[in-house]
Amino acid sequence: MARKVLAGNWKMHKTRGEARAFVEAFLPLIEPLAADRLVILCGPYTCLDILSANAGPYAVGAQNVHWENSGAYTGEIAPVMLTELGVLYAIVGHSERRQYFNETDATVNRRLKAAQAHDLTPILCVGESEALRLAGQTESHIRFQLDHDLKDIDLDRLIVAYEPIWAIGTGKTCAPVEANRIIGLIREHVGQANLPVLYGGSCNPGNIDAIMAQDKIDGVLVGGASLEVQSFARIVNFEA
Ligand code: PEP
Repeated sequence: MARKVLAGNWKMHKTRGEARAFVEAFLPLIEPLAADRLVILCGPYTCLDILSANAGPYAVGAQNVHWENSGAYTGEIAPVMLTELGVLYAIVGHSERRQYFNETDATVNRRLKAAQAHDLTPILCVGESEALRLAGQTESHIRFQLDHDLKDIDLDRLIVAYEPIWAIGTGKTCAPVEANRIIGLIREHVGQANLPVLYGGSCNPGNIDAIMAQDKIDGVLVGGASLEVQSFARIVNFEA
């Protein structure tokens, strides 16, 4: 049975001291971890070694990865710099990267390829804006993203997260049945029956059980609610 994935995206939060304190308090709350679950903590680059030092009950992820292994790319991070720190996963194409840092489907595709070439499993984020949803273009937009982002990507070493942009950090969760429907469409469009597809967008301790009760949702990518120990521990320990 495939494990459910509970991934936390800390974004640009937590100093090294705060990361250390989080891990210390978090570990006792997730051990023993149910065998059907995989927890991934995606911290800022400056905390990855701290997260790796305590990995085991959880795995470590980064929040992006560049396509080159070195070069004149100020502010970027190379795949080998992540794997050297014990990182196993990398979020790619998060809507905040696309929106604020002009990442395109073409560069997302290059990042995905580089991640896989270095044995990092990418977590590709796709999802529509509120304007696209209101215009009835949710499905076509996601299909477009998948077609371009996943060109020549190994579909066996990939996680996809459906993250409607209007639900990220807004407190407006996509209705679980609707998230389930879109996730079913994503898996069908990609054409990989066992592709893990997560939901992300204002997931919290109050809605996690309803989200995870959906038959097509393989897990969650959690921003805000992954920053606080008790809240993320409740999410990880969702009631099946
Ligand atoms: C995210 O940034 O991936 C996310 C889902 O954020 P939040 O849970 O805060 O909506």
